[in-house]
Amino acid sequence: MSNIYLNGQWLPIEQAQISVLDRGFIFGDGVYEVIPVYSRKAFALDAHLQRLDNSLKGIRLAAPLNHDQWRTIISQLVGEADQEDSSIYLQISRGVAPRDHAFPKNTSATVFAMAKPMAPVPQDWLENGIKVVTHTDDRWLHCDLKTTALLANVLLRQYAVDQGAVECVLIRDGFVTEGAASNIIVVHDNTLLFPPRNNLILPGITYDLIIDLAQQHRLPFKEAPVPQTVLLQSSEIMMTSSTREIVPITQIDGKPVGNGQPGPLFKQLLTLYQSLK
Ligand code: PLP
Repeated sequence: MSNIYLNGQWLPIEQAQISVLDRGFIFGDGVYEVIPVYSRKAFALDAHLQRLDNSLKGIRLAAPLNHDQWRTIISQLVGEADQEDSSIYLQISRGVAPRDHAFPKNTSATVFAMAKPMAPVPQDWLENGIKVVTHTDDRWLHCDLKTTALLANVLLRQYAVDQGAVECVLIRDGFVTEGAASNIIVVHDNTLLFPPRNNLILPGITYDLIIDLAQQHRLPFKEAPVPQTVLLQSSEIMMTSSTREIVPITQIDGKPVGNGQPGPLFKQLLTLYQSLK
């Protein structure tokens, strides 16, 4: 395994250790990013670093490193990796301090970064689509921040896995928000519907890239609230994320989506996304 970066040091993963009092461990008091790397080049890096800044601001934690410092760390991780395609994981917590909910004074953040091999999206998913289930979105009201406090997302993803599904599509007050670890795009009346970017969803970098592609290629699209009733009558549904890119959803709550096969807009967007990479 390649070296990892921890608080200014480069270490083999077995030697990288943090205190049990780290607030990331005790409270989930931290933020993170996941950045895909193709042929040793980080993809959409500026957008990921911008979102990291936004997450830090949202939890009121001063950025411990600037973008150039992150770029240096990431290029070292990418350069040393055994594989050409990686996913980079960055995490910043509010550091080590005696356990107390309120922010500690004069504590340095814990900064951690690693590269791991990017698992290819299974061919079967792209050819036949995946199964998903729906569930009430019972997370907090700051889902736009990419925080390490992911217990709700963990339980929701496991709810899906327990039913033989790949992802859980979340519904808040009758409207689609996103997946447990992905964004959701729905096709209704031949129009791509993107649930609006607000505090209830993570502004996905892949979601943004796909909106740009839809715009550039004049595909009909709207960023608009998607009622659960529309979701369940849609002709296509897709899930997007940096590591899974764009995946067709062909079964929801045990029922086929459209004709139960990946649809034409998915195929078009997949081709466009692959050429963007
Ligand atoms: N929404 C949630 C809750 C996520 O965890 C993720 C990614 O992990 C996404 C959306 C997709 O974001 P991105 O496309 O930036 O990976």
